[in-house]
Amino acid sequence: MDEGYIKFNARWKKALPLPEKALQNLCYWRNEMHRHSLIGVYENGVGYGNISSRLRPDGQFVITGSATGQLPALSPEHFTTVTGFDLDQNEVVCSGPIIASSESMSHAVIYRECPEVNGVIHIHHAGLWEFLLHKIPTTDAGAPYGSPEMARSIIRLLRETELREQKIFVMEGHPEGIFSFGETLEAATAAIFSSLRQLALNT
Ligand SMILES: [Zn+2]
Repeated sequence: MDEGYIKFNARWKKALPLPEKALQNLCYWRNEMHRHSLIGVYENGVGYGNISSRLRPDGQFVITGSATGQLPALSPEHFTTVTGFDLDQNEVVCSGPIIASSESMSHAVIYRECPEVNGVIHIHHAGLWEFLLHKIPTTDAGAPYGSPEMARSIIRLLRETELREQKIFVMEGHPEGIFSFGETLEAATAAIFSSLRQLALNT
């Protein structure tokens, strides 16, 4: 599991954090995910999971910074704004107090493809991953986390499957990795919790 390693070329402009009020909801749901160990840290010290919310209609979004998974509660200096990206150049442009999450490109393509989406969450859960694999839209086995291949695989699922309605997918090339999204962050978390309930009923 190499989630802590950023694979894109980052154009990071250091800037002040956003005001606490603007991040309240995002902070709340991030900490909830952490409380359920859906975002967290492995025994080897590598963090997993990330969460974002749309900042502007043009697709700019705020996302957790890289290597924040181990922290039980985040504050404004742990979030940063992704202002642009380029799949062909494997480039992410961000502005804020911390470098953007290694999975930023996957979040970026969901906001670009789905103007109705305002919140995106990437969690890890071994049991749920196994349960959902190929039962719901699943990214290509050959697409590693945080890569343009993963972003392209997500775009394909959004265009060619029921994903845009189902709002949750599993990443075959990234064991334990699951994404969900929604019109709100609350809706995105609901998709995860409802899948976890199905898993509980089936085991
Ligand atoms: Zn992951």
